Amino acid sequence: MGRMITAESLARVPLFANIPEHERASIAARAADVRLRQDEWLLSEGQTVGFYALLEGKLAAVKSVGGQERELLFYAQGDYFGEVPLLLGSPAVTSVRALEPSRVMQLDAADFHDLIMHCRALNGEILKTMARRVGRIQEVVVESSAPVATVIGRRQDPACFQLREFLARNHVNFACRDLDDQEGIDRLVHDGLLRNASEAATAFSGLSLPLVILPGGRRLEAPSFRELADIVGLQTKPKHTDYDVVIIGGGPAGLAAAVYGASEGLGTLLVERVACGGQAGTSSRIENYLGFPAGLSGDDLSVKARQQALRFGAELLLTRSVASIELGNPTEADGVPHTVVLDGDVRLTTKAIVIATGVQWRRLETRGIDRLTGRGVCYGAARTEALGMRGRRVHIVGGGNSAGQAAMLFSNYAESVTMLVRGPSLAASMSHYVISQLATKANVTVETQVQVMAVEGADRLEALELAVGPSRKRERRASDALFVFIGAQAETSWLPEDIMRNRWGYVCTGRDAKDLLGEREGTAWPLDRDPFLLETSVPGIFAAGDVRHGSIKRVASSVGAGSMAIAFVQQYLADIAETTSAALSG
Ligand SMILES: Cc1cc2nc3c(=O)[nH]c(=O)nc-3n(C[C@H](O)[C@H](O)[C@H](O)COP(=O)(O)OP(=O)(O)OC[C@H]3O[C@@H](n4cnc5c(N)ncnc54)[C@H](O)[C@@H]3O)c2cc1C
Repeated sequence: MGRMITAESLARVPLFANIPEHERASIAARAADVRLRQDEWLLSEGQTVGFYALLEGKLAAVKSVGGQERELLFYAQGDYFGEVPLLLGSPAVTSVRALEPSRVMQLDAADFHDLIMHCRALNGEILKTMARRVGRIQEVVVESSAPVATVIGRRQDPACFQLREFLARNHVNFACRDLDDQEGIDRLVHDGLLRNASEAATAFSGLSLPLVILPGGRRLEAPSFRELADIVGLQTKPKHTDYDVVIIGGGPAGLAAAVYGASEGLGTLLVERVACGGQAGTSSRIENYLGFPAGLSGDDLSVKARQQALRFGAELLLTRSVASIELGNPTEADGVPHTVVLDGDVRLTTKAIVIATGVQWRRLETRGIDRLTGRGVCYGAARTEALGMRGRRVHIVGGGNSAGQAAMLFSNYAESVTMLVRGPSLAASMSHYVISQLATKANVTVETQVQVMAVEGADRLEALELAVGPSRKRERRASDALFVFIGAQAETSWLPEDIMRNRWGYVCTGRDAKDLLGEREGTAWPLDRDPFLLETSVPGIFAAGDVRHGSIKRVASSVGAGSMAIAFVQQYLADIAETTSAALSG
């Protein structure tokens, strides 16, 4: 007989061992027979569940806590599960993966409810198990929420700010203790890191701050992101030296490419300089992304996308950047692959590359700005900064959606938020829905036709000098924080010359790339076919997301482009496989 659950096989599951034979037969008649290979996922967190009994093999229940996957429970032959979400009416609270080849009986939700309604013996047993398992999940979540690092430093110190932002964006649980704040010092005493509050003045003198204390007492003075990433278990080194596709940048475009690449079975490596999420990772609320009527934070989007990519088997390298690309000629029969050179001169070969490096904030050219950047002046805004704005006078330069979203976020904490806009109104640069939301906030003011001429302060930002109105009258305003959102630029000067860019550095693809090659002396598109829509002027190198000339700078379009780029990578790989096999056979 093929794949079929029988009453006899159910009798080997203790839960079903003592129920009448006809009940077992009725369950068997409604059950699916699920076979899993080693490492195959039976179920993902958040998915609709069924009721399962393990007939052969071994499974692990895995939960993502604080961005890290933890194995919470193991199921052996004869165990059952699925009752917790089914009885709570919730989606799966954990994912389940096969640790070895396994065979699982699966009942649909309706059949499970029918079963416990009609079979009292099973009902009592299942409820007891459920109570035990909920307790275990609770324990692990509480235990995993304990900080894996305590950062001690001064809140206003740029190095401390950057380290906190790095940990927050990578979803590492950490505690922060500010030496300029009595509460921070009291916590250090409470945690046993200081004997008494008066010790605070001397205990850390002579050390390079921020100081990071790890569980077990290990101390790191002003560690680099890479050092910290290694310690908290983020991947920083590639596992192989050759890939099908290397994706540069871990924003929405790069993450989408990683999910699609790995899910199509390509050997996929994503390299990200700081933390997954890119610009979107810093957004407090993305409200226009399809399928999320209540909006979702950039953090949520990136943590879920990262999990999804890892689940499909992509490698995600964090705190690493791509320093250069050395071009190969993989389209030729005996050609060599492209080489991607990471910082530290780590070299990897790959058949295809997706450039998804997005854009970086444009610098504000104004007097005093470099000295005070990180000391009250900040480019972009991280959600982690919101709490630090309690009771402060915040100024925001820029009139786009990101500036508006930052104003909305800070309005819940700051005493006042003033948006400084160069143009005559917000309407030309900001979406209507963001303008309407700002109008509901009593502590947000929008000033148009204003330009920041200078930023002032001894140790940190204290005041702004503004040119106001058509007369450009000079005014001095007290300010505790200035967030700059004045548009972005593509930093692509490190790419090889052969990858055509427009004069602002955006990478040209498809028809644009071919036309540019045609215009330049001595260059031409080398293949018989035209470049694919997202292919650059070098075959096999693609660009997706904000870095691409002509892109629509939105999360949804970046996700779409990242996924499309992989479809083109596959066509390209099929072409080169054909060329190679033709050369071999002829
Ligand atoms: C505050 C804010 C709010 C926003 N809100 C919305 C919104 O509500 N709705 C919406 O649709 N859009 C919004 N956007 C725009 C949206 O976030 C971007 O369009 C989108 O993030 C672009 O995705 P991307 O993957 O192309 O690039 P990015 O998000 O810019 O990501 C590029 C990544 O590449 C990395 N990188 C760069 N160079 C290298 C290198 N050499 N090596 C390794 N890594 C590298 C960077 O560190 C970065 O993480 C917002 C943007 C901001 C800043």
